[in-house]
Amino acid sequence: MYIVPSGLVFDESYINHSLGPGHPESPERLRAIRKILNNNGIIKELIDINPISDRDFITEAILRIHSGSHIKSVIECGQMAEPIFLAVGGVLAAVDAVMTDKINNCFCAVRPPGHHAHNHGPHCDGWFQGEGFCFFNNLAVAARYAQTIYNCERVLIVDWDFHHGNGTEWAFYDDPSVFFFSTHSLHTYPMTGFPNRTGEAKGRGYNLNVPLRPGAGDKEIITAWQRQLLPALEKQNFKPDLILISAGFDSRKDDYLGNFTISDKGFTRLTEITLQLADTYCRGRVISLLEGGYNPAGLARAVYAHLKSMYIHCKVENIVA
Ligand SMILES: [Zn+2]
Repeated sequence: MYIVPSGLVFDESYINHSLGPGHPESPERLRAIRKILNNNGIIKELIDINPISDRDFITEAILRIHSGSHIKSVIECGQMAEPIFLAVGGVLAAVDAVMTDKINNCFCAVRPPGHHAHNHGPHCDGWFQGEGFCFFNNLAVAARYAQTIYNCERVLIVDWDFHHGNGTEWAFYDDPSVFFFSTHSLHTYPMTGFPNRTGEAKGRGYNLNVPLRPGAGDKEIITAWQRQLLPALEKQNFKPDLILISAGFDSRKDDYLGNFTISDKGFTRLTEITLQLADTYCRGRVISLLEGGYNPAGLARAVYAHLKSMYIHCKVENIVA
């Protein structure tokens, strides 16, 4: 019997990142997550994964997704750039740890989030800095890193954030090596994510948008996973070598920026479906990354449910093995 455990990426600098007083993407989000993980003792069960901090190394990885001028505009944010780069460094470290079998799956509790980031450059002097609070697309950078460094041919990205992951769609729209699946609201920022957007050129059929109605709950989102994602992967014969989750919890009930009603049990179920997929195709390799979630207490409870099912699944799988 061997246990390949779950990992956690967490760093003080992610808490300190601030877009200004009263901003919903607040340090309180991570404080609440840290508190619930500490109180439930699960934090002791997880392997600490330290973010890569080498700026040149991180920049090289970011350049596979973003332009040099975009990176320069982030650097011009001064001190604020530090956690932005380190968020990418955290996800890269998670890829290293999972692909070298140090851990089986990993949750990255990073700020700022990333799935809206394009190449537009942040606006550091205003209240709304970055795009949808994002600067670099942490997860897209991680996908390309896994492909480049670890020869992952196919990467699946699933995104259950309330908002459409327009930055991720943009990064891989013509690319059949990355399958992007998103459930979201169409009636809010960034007003994208229509179902007719299925990819272009060789990437056609590898981008799947499933908008959900206002008020959508567990039934709707789980149905989208089971009746849309799973058949679509089969249709394309898409067997991922790694699965990445854009884990946004603003789709949870009681969120301040969303109007879906997904429960913590619902997130547990989505996690299980994703882990089962990973067991089938890629030895359980899953990296989950925090995106949105703006009611700190609700966010923390959802993250705990999500992480617990990653941890338990990992443990059970390896006992069975
Ligand atoms: Zn969101």
